[in-house]
Amino acid sequence: MRIPGYDRSKGLAGMLGGRGMIILIIAVGLVIWWFSSQQTGITGRSQTITTSIEDENRMGLEAYMQVLAEEPVLCARGATSCAIDETREVERIRAIGRRLQAAATAWEAEGAVMTVEGKTAGSLPSWGALTDTFNWQFNVIDADTPNAFALPGGFVAIYTGLLPVAANDDGLAAIMGHEIGHALARHGGERMSQQQIMSFGQVAVGLAFGDMGMDTQRMVMGAFGLGADLGVLKPFSRAHESEADLIGLELMARACFDPRETPRLWRRMAELGDGARPPEFLSTHPDPEARASMFEKLMPSAVAAYRRHCGTDLN
Ligand SMILES: [Zn+2]
Repeated sequence: MRIPGYDRSKGLAGMLGGRGMIILIIAVGLVIWWFSSQQTGITGRSQTITTSIEDENRMGLEAYMQVLAEEPVLCARGATSCAIDETREVERIRAIGRRLQAAATAWEAEGAVMTVEGKTAGSLPSWGALTDTFNWQFNVIDADTPNAFALPGGFVAIYTGLLPVAANDDGLAAIMGHEIGHALARHGGERMSQQQIMSFGQVAVGLAFGDMGMDTQRMVMGAFGLGADLGVLKPFSRAHESEADLIGLELMARACFDPRETPRLWRRMAELGDGARPPEFLSTHPDPEARASMFEKLMPSAVAAYRRHCGTDLN
C-alpha cells in the first residue's frame, strides 16, 4: 500500500517533514522534562518543578528588594522618623509573622504531614529543609490597596490597606498564613516551571513555522499562547489558591491563632467588591460561598491542630 506523501526510503523524517520532526523532537523532550521534574506536594497533589529552591529564593529576594525600593515601607530600616503607633503596628505584624514562621519550621521538622478530614493528604518529601533556606522578612507597606504577598524565600509584605479587612490578629494571621502557604508549597517555582515549558513550546512552534508569513506565524503563536494560558495556567492557579488556603489554615492553628476567623475574613474580603480587591484575592479564587463551605469542612482538623499545639481549647 502506498501512503500519499510518504517516501519509505526516508523513514519517519520523510513522513513528517523537517518541520514535523522539529516539533516531534522538542515535544518529546518537553514531555520527558515535564515528567522527570514531577514531585508530590504537601497536599498530595503532583507538581512539576524544574527550578531549584536556591534559584527561586534568589528571584524572590530580587523581586522583594525591588518592591521595597519602589513602595513606601512603614518604619523602614534606617528611617529617621517613625511614629510610636506606626512602630507598634509594624511590631504587631512582625510578631504575627514570626509565630507563623516558627510554626512552619516546627511543622517541617515534624515531617510536614498534611491531614485533611482525618486522613493524611500528603507529606512533604520536597519540603525537606526548605524553611532552612528561607531568610524570613516581614515588612509593612504604607499603601491603600488591600494587598499582601509572600515570595519564595519567606519575603513577606503586608499593605496597610489590608488592615481594616483583616480586622484583628487572627484575620491577619489567616491572610499571612495563606500567603506563606504559597511560598511553602513552592507555587512560585511551579509557575516559573510552567512558563519555562510554555515558552520552550512557543520557541518550538516558532522554529517549525518560521518560514511562514508573519500573519500566519503570529496566529499560530497566539493560538498556542492563549491555549496554554486558559488550558493550564488558570486551572493551576485555582489549585494553588485552594492549596494555600489549606496550608494557611493549618499553619495559623499551629501558631495558636483562631482558625475560625478564616471564613469570616474571606467573607469580608468578598464584600470589598471587585474593584477594591487586588488580583491575588480576585479572579483565581473560588467563589466565596464555595470557599466558606470548604473551610467549614476543614475546620474540625484545624481546631484539633490548635488543641494539640496550643494545649488549650478554643472557646
Ligand atoms: Zn493566594
